[in-house]
Amino acid sequence: MKILIVEDERKVARFIERALVEQAYTARTASTCAEARDELAESPYDAIILDLGLPDGDGLELLREWRAGGFNEPVLILSARDAVEDRIKGLNLGADDYLPKPFSVDELVARLRSLLRRQGTAPRATVLEHRGVRLDLLARVATFDGKPVDLTSREFALLELFLQNPRRVLTRTMIAEKIWESSYEMETNLIEVYVRRLRKKFDRAEGEPFLKTVRGSGYQLA
Ligand code: CA
Repeated sequence: MKILIVEDERKVARFIERALVEQAYTARTASTCAEARDELAESPYDAIILDLGLPDGDGLELLREWRAGGFNEPVLILSARDAVEDRIKGLNLGADDYLPKPFSVDELVARLRSLLRRQGTAPRATVLEHRGVRLDLLARVATFDGKPVDLTSREFALLELFLQNPRRVLTRTMIAEKIWESSYEMETNLIEVYVRRLRKKFDRAEGEPFLKTVRGSGYQLA
């Protein structure tokens, strides 16, 4: 489980990081909105702990962007602003929980664990669909305009990853970590080979390719 801590007070960030690492989570820290954006664009996270008052912007703005971009994992807001209005605003923007500062780190860890547990057991869609492509995750069957399409297990996993993140640009690093469970330098063209195979199976004769190349960053469903 990989957690992103967005917090500009170094002492607080380190304190949370230490507590999470003790509980066997992997934790990374970002101290500005810009760093947080970069972290999330580069690597998949299972949850985010988000401070609101950041030197280059408002945490609520980050939250709005992430939710609009299809980030579905739990976000726990951490802030000195404990006014009811801010709390409601945060929850309306898609935060899952809110902890006013000062907080007890034990409570933070307990709440995070409960959010992650809830996420893990929440019913997830078992059928994913996008522009005529339909993936039945239980039956492990893919169809395109109603016709069955043969996929290898890697192709299936890659297609599932794109359909689970319909509005998001998936970077090569993110794809490598999720599908090949490797963050090491992969054979550079392996992902391209798989993307090409999916395009061959799901591109239409006319219009945009099924998977768009986003120059310099990765791929996105068209
Ligand atoms: Ca702050």
